[in-house]
Amino acid sequence: MSVAYFDHAASTPVRDEVLEAMMPFFRDCYANPTGAHRMARDSRRAIDEARDVLAAGLATEPTGIVFCGSGTEADNLAIFGAAAAGGGRVVCSAAEHHAVLRPVERLGGSVVETDSNGVIDTGALRDALGEDVALVSVMMANNETGVISPLDEIAEVVRTHAPQALFHTDAVQGFPWLDVAEAARLVDLISLSAHKFGGPKGVGVLAVRGGARLRAQIIGGGQEMGLRSGTQNTAGIVGMGKAAEIVLAERDSAVERVRVLRDQLADGLAATVPGVVETAVTPSSGGCTDRSAKVAGSCHLCFEGVESEEMLFLIEREGVYASAASSCASGAEDPSHTLAAMGWPRALARGSLRLSLGYPTTLADVDRVLATLPEAVAQLRRAAGQAAA
Ligand code: PLP
Repeated sequence: MSVAYFDHAASTPVRDEVLEAMMPFFRDCYANPTGAHRMARDSRRAIDEARDVLAAGLATEPTGIVFCGSGTEADNLAIFGAAAAGGGRVVCSAAEHHAVLRPVERLGGSVVETDSNGVIDTGALRDALGEDVALVSVMMANNETGVISPLDEIAEVVRTHAPQALFHTDAVQGFPWLDVAEAARLVDLISLSAHKFGGPKGVGVLAVRGGARLRAQIIGGGQEMGLRSGTQNTAGIVGMGKAAEIVLAERDSAVERVRVLRDQLADGLAATVPGVVETAVTPSSGGCTDRSAKVAGSCHLCFEGVESEEMLFLIEREGVYASAASSCASGAEDPSHTLAAMGWPRALARGSLRLSLGYPTTLADVDRVLATLPEAVAQLRRAAGQAAA
């Protein structure tokens, strides 16, 4: 059975052009890029070409592009690196990805509450700031709900109430959809991950703007301007560069195409499933009446009276792959920390579903969900009703 893949926020397929660009660096040009001979110089040049693409896409000098092993590593380097260099407190929002939240918790930093859409509360942020703050981290778009943070307003609060602090944004979910170069001008540090936009897994970037001071967390041979030692993943970096080049060339048209499909999907489900709540859109979720607060690829919904895991099981049988924002690694039945931060009732949060679209998504994929999900929800509600009777 063919698959209708709606889990692009978790990972995307590697684009054909990306794979093609990477192959020579496995087969022919495999030298260590720090070497002195010609093959090493060719590897180094390919890395620097990718560095230039990322630099343009993130409004950062090429010397500020630090390639590393994942979005998680980029986030860790920003937070631990700033705390070690600046010796101060770190601050983030309660809805951050765990790659930000866990480092902040380990450092005993401040976790600031959010509003009902999962956006950091700027009043609470102001109260959490002060002269002792080394770094503030606020994500560009949330990985579960797709809700976009108003980084301009948040940057103003940070610059006013903690002017010495570095401002970091995790743009891992933003890059395929938003003008990150524009937003980059507001921040000192930006994290990206290649596998979220058609590149390979295991490659990330931390962009360090304006000479922001960080202390390296992985030390050794001094690669990547001394901020991330370890032999560079030449093929992976080349793949990230190629994927970024395609995103930058095609973003506007891709966003428009995917936005139409996402709206058809969300409108179709709203019309066929009673009592569906669309995060940050349905007025009862505290949202507005359009989807402008969310990235184009995100359709995040909650279905009352249904368990996410059961819903996922039923739609997977029909070839639809999605994810439950409410699941957690231990299998415990707690709602996600993002939905908890948003103050969602537990019963609703337990029926959450993240349908994330990406550059390959088609109308046939959308139709497949519309032909599958309403019946799955109805079936589960009937079963729950019978069990209760
Ligand atoms: N930050 C956000 C917002 C993410 O969505 C993810 C991945 O899901 C990460 C960081 C981690 O990226 P990686 O998978 O490259 O470690």
